[in-house]
Amino acid sequence: MADSSPTPTSIDGVTALYRRFRPGRFAELRGQDHVVRALQGAVKNDRIVHAYLFSGPRGTGKTTAARILAKALNCEHPLDGDACNECASCVAITRGSSLDVIELDAASNNGVDDIREITAGAWHGTPGQWKVYIFDEVHQLSKAASAALLKTLEEPPQHVVFVLATTDPHKVLPTIRSRTQHLEFRLIGGETLSSLLHDVQGAAGLAADDALIDAAVRLGRGSARDALSALDQLIATGSLSETQPEFDGLFHALVHADAVEALRSLALLTREGWDPEQLAESFAAEIRQVFLLQAAPDVADAVDADRDRLSAWGSQLGLARTVRILETIGRAMREMKSAPDKVVILEVALVRLIKPELDSSIEALDERVTKIERAGARPVAAPSSTAGPALRPIGSTGGAPPVSPTAGPAATVAPAPPAPPASPGPGPGSGPGSGRAASDAAALSLEDVRERFEQRVVPRTARSAQLLLKNARVCSFDGQRLSIALPNEEMRQNTEHIAQGLRSAMEHEFKVNFQIDWIVDPSLVAGSSAPSSRPARPEPPERSGADEDPAGDESSIVVDSMAGHLISEMFPGAEEIS
Ligand SMILES: [Zn+2]
Repeated sequence: MADSSPTPTSIDGVTALYRRFRPGRFAELRGQDHVVRALQGAVKNDRIVHAYLFSGPRGTGKTTAARILAKALNCEHPLDGDACNECASCVAITRGSSLDVIELDAASNNGVDDIREITAGAWHGTPGQWKVYIFDEVHQLSKAASAALLKTLEEPPQHVVFVLATTDPHKVLPTIRSRTQHLEFRLIGGETLSSLLHDVQGAAGLAADDALIDAAVRLGRGSARDALSALDQLIATGSLSETQPEFDGLFHALVHADAVEALRSLALLTREGWDPEQLAESFAAEIRQVFLLQAAPDVADAVDADRDRLSAWGSQLGLARTVRILETIGRAMREMKSAPDKVVILEVALVRLIKPELDSSIEALDERVTKIERAGARPVAAPSSTAGPALRPIGSTGGAPPVSPTAGPAATVAPAPPAPPASPGPGPGSGPGSGRAASDAAALSLEDVRERFEQRVVPRTARSAQLLLKNARVCSFDGQRLSIALPNEEMRQNTEHIAQGLRSAMEHEFKVNFQIDWIVDPSLVAGSSAPSSRPARPEPPERSGADEDPAGDESSIVVDSMAGHLISEMFPGAEEIS
C-alpha cells in the first residue's frame, strides 16, 4: 500500500483523466514534496495549525492537497501521517459526501452572508475528528466576507482546520495571511509530469506512445491537471496534429465582423472538448504571432504553413485590430481566472471585439470614433472629385503583381474602395501648394523625400503612427503630392488616426504642407518595409522577413519594445527565447 502509483478513484465511462487519477494520498501527490513533508509531518506529529494558506498556479494540486489533508486527519487507518484512502471516511471525502469537509468556491460565493452561514456551522460537532473547511480562490472574498472570516480565524474552534487556497496570495488580507501557515505550490517539472503521465497510462491501460505523452507534458506547462486534460484530448483525437485547436473559423468571423459565426466557432471548439481557458490561451498565442508577423516578422516564431496562414489573417485584420484582439483576449484570460462560468467571458470578449459599440474600453471607443469619422468623411470627400487620381491601380508602383504569398484567405485582398483622400483633412491652410511651398518642394527628389520621411518624419510621430508607418513606403512625389503605399486596406484606413500627427511632423521637416495620397500595395509585406530602390518581391513572408530588415532603425526599436510590452502583459513572467 506504500507505492506511489496513482489509483483510479472512479471509472465511470468518460470521466476525465484528471478526475479519475486525482491523488488520494500524500504519497500520490507529485511535484510538491515540500508541501507533502510539512502536512504529513504535522498530521503525524499532531502539530496541525488551524489555518493554512495554499498558494500557487492553477492545476498544481492545492485543493487536492487540502482534501488529502482532510482525509489524513479523519482516516480510520492512517499510516505515517498519510491517509489510507480506503476506509469509509476516506471514501466519503473522495466522493464529496463527507460531512467533515466543507468546500466553498470563494469566486462565486464571496459575500459576507455566505461566510457567516458557513462559519456558523464551524461550532457544531462533526462525525469525524476534524472538520476541514476548504475555501478556493479565497482572494475573491469581498471585504466584508474577509472580515467575517478573519473573526473566525482569530478564535477557531478546536476541531476545525481552514485551508485557504489562492492563485494570488498578495490579494489576501494581510491580517488573514498572518493567521495562516503559508505553503507555496510550484509548477511541476517536466520529468515529474512525464512520470505521472506514464504511470496514469499504465494504470488506465491507455494507448499512448511516448510522443503523445511528451506532447501532453509540453501542453501541461507545469500543471498536472492541464497535462492530464491534454493527454485525454490527444488520446481522443489519436494524433498530434490535433494538439492545437483550429481557429480559422474564429479568424474568419473576426475579419468579417460576424458575431454569430464567432459564437458558433467557439461553441464548436468547446464541443470538441477544449477547455475555455485553454482556448483563450491558445488563441492569444496565435494572435500574438499574427501581431508579430505584422509588426516585427523576425521575432515571430510561427513556422511553415502556420506562418503563411497567420500572416494571411494578419493582412486581413490589420495591425490596429490585431492589437485590440490581443488586448481583449488578454483581459478575458485574466477575468476567466476568477469567473465561475469561463466560457461566458470568452463569448462576451468575442462579441465586444465584433461589436465595439457594446464595449466601453478606450480602444473600443477609438474604434467607434474611427467608424463615425469614416462615415462622416465620405460625403465630404465625394464632391471634390479629385479623390479619383489618389487611387492608383494596386501594384502599379512596385511592378510586381499583387500575388499573395499564400493560397490562404489573404488571396482576397480587396481592391481599395473609393475613400477620402486621407491626409490633409480640414486642417487650416491646407490649400495645395502656396507659392513658396511649390518652389521649395520643386528642389526635392523622390529619394530625398523618401529618406527624410523614413529617417526624420516617422521617428517624430507617435508610437502608434510609427507602428503603422513602419509598413509604409513613399512611392511617388511630384513636388506637391506625395503617394505613400501601405500593404493593405485596413492599414490604409487607419491612417485617419495618424493624419494629424503626421501632418505636423511633415510640416516640421519640409516646412511645406504636402498633399498625401494613401494607396494600397499588397506586394508590400507588412512589417518589413522593403528597401525602396528594389521592386517589391512576391516572395513568401518568411523569406523577406529573414533576409534583410531595415536593421536597427529607430522605428523597429519602438515596435520591438511595444511588442515586448504586450507580450509581458499577455504572458507575465515569460522570457523570450530566440
Ligand atoms: Zn482512511
